[in-house]
Amino acid sequence: MTKNFVIVGGGQAAAQAIQTLQQNKYEGSITLVGEEIYPPYQRPPLSKKYMAGELQRERLFLRPLKFYESNNIDLELGARAIELDLGKSHVRLNNDRLLKFNGLMLATGSKVRRLKVPGSDLDGIHYVRTLADVDEILPKLKKAKKLVIIGAGYIGLEVAAVSISSGLDVIVLEATERVMSRTVSTEVSNFYSRYHSKAGVNLKYLTTVSHFGGNKKVTTVVTADGQKLACDLVVVGIGIEPEVELAETAGLPCKDGIIVDEFACTEGQNIFAAGDCTNHPNQLLSKRIRLESVQNAIDQAKAGIQTFLGEKTPYKTVPWFWSDQYDLKLQIAGLSEGYDQIVVRGDPKKAPFAVFYIRDGRIVTVEAVNLPQAFMIGKQLISTGIKVELKKLVDLKFDLKDLIKR
Ligand code: NAP
Repeated sequence: MTKNFVIVGGGQAAAQAIQTLQQNKYEGSITLVGEEIYPPYQRPPLSKKYMAGELQRERLFLRPLKFYESNNIDLELGARAIELDLGKSHVRLNNDRLLKFNGLMLATGSKVRRLKVPGSDLDGIHYVRTLADVDEILPKLKKAKKLVIIGAGYIGLEVAAVSISSGLDVIVLEATERVMSRTVSTEVSNFYSRYHSKAGVNLKYLTTVSHFGGNKKVTTVVTADGQKLACDLVVVGIGIEPEVELAETAGLPCKDGIIVDEFACTEGQNIFAAGDCTNHPNQLLSKRIRLESVQNAIDQAKAGIQTFLGEKTPYKTVPWFWSDQYDLKLQIAGLSEGYDQIVVRGDPKKAPFAVFYIRDGRIVTVEAVNLPQAFMIGKQLISTGIKVELKKLVDLKFDLKDLIKR
């Protein structure tokens, strides 16, 4: 029988799958299929240090290329898996290679949501998802004077922070009434809005794009309410969609992601899925969710490989996220749903501070700005579900560490 574990996708989940196979002394061969030309790399720095020119490309790689050679890992880079046959246990690539497998990890990640308004294909309109995307933007960013960013989520705000610090005029258009509205509280949104405005970023809320103007190259963004904004570069960050095409056409159930259980198993035998592309049952929320987070990719990949190797370990960690903008580190643990009140430690007008979301006296989410201790302790308390005295959470004289002492 074939003893080849195939990983489709070349991101964080893929890298973790390899690591867990190796740590558990998997004896078969391993093949990684990646559509990009690079081996697995870290995506978070792309809109931060890499875009700011503070990190070299090689430092992004999770393992150097020679690691794959010396460990006999077959890298099929620049190749797309176009067919998965569940019955025959093989994957066909667009370079005609056919890969038989005894285990498969779908780590296909996500693709950017694209704007479909007139002029969207003009030169100078960019998205930030891959290393190649950022390599295309970098030389333009050096020459540009006026940048319009569409979307005030993580991508939009991180790109705004890097660009305003390099002297560009920066306008950010956001469809909702506040920044990072999908992921953070109003307190944190307001703090970040003020910080960006003070740095010189022009934020426009409840504003979407009607069309782009320009001849070959974008020169204006025209908003739905008729504003004409001159620009020589546009960056769009309006969210992502799970990449499920391979799984869906193979007949694996998908609904806002590839459906997996708590062991990262799909419905296919010995077929696992991990990361942004999956939809899993979340124990904290008692419902299915799809997470866009590095930690989710890592933990799910571990769970899937351990299950494959016969050591069933459920994936049930507290989700966490972070964002670096200017000198601010935002760290979030938990999901901001199902809470009955919010309490704030510190002054939400100036960092450091932390926002705790509470349900029945227990923390369900913490958002910490330059307050790593509140993040770490909040994350532990979310996981243990221990009740906390709210007056201690907000008392700056009280040491939060005492909440986790036995
Ligand atoms: P995002 O965080 O989902 O934010 C996109 C924002 O754009 C939303 O507020 C969205 O509003 C708004 N929007 C949607 N359509 C718009 C339009 N036509 N005009 C103006 N605004 C519009 O998505 P993102 O910033 O693109 O990031 C994508 C993913 O990258 C994240 O989910 C995350 O996984 C990853 N990422 C993470 C980090 C980090 O953790 N530090 C950093 C960068 C990227 P609606 O909610 O109404 O659609």
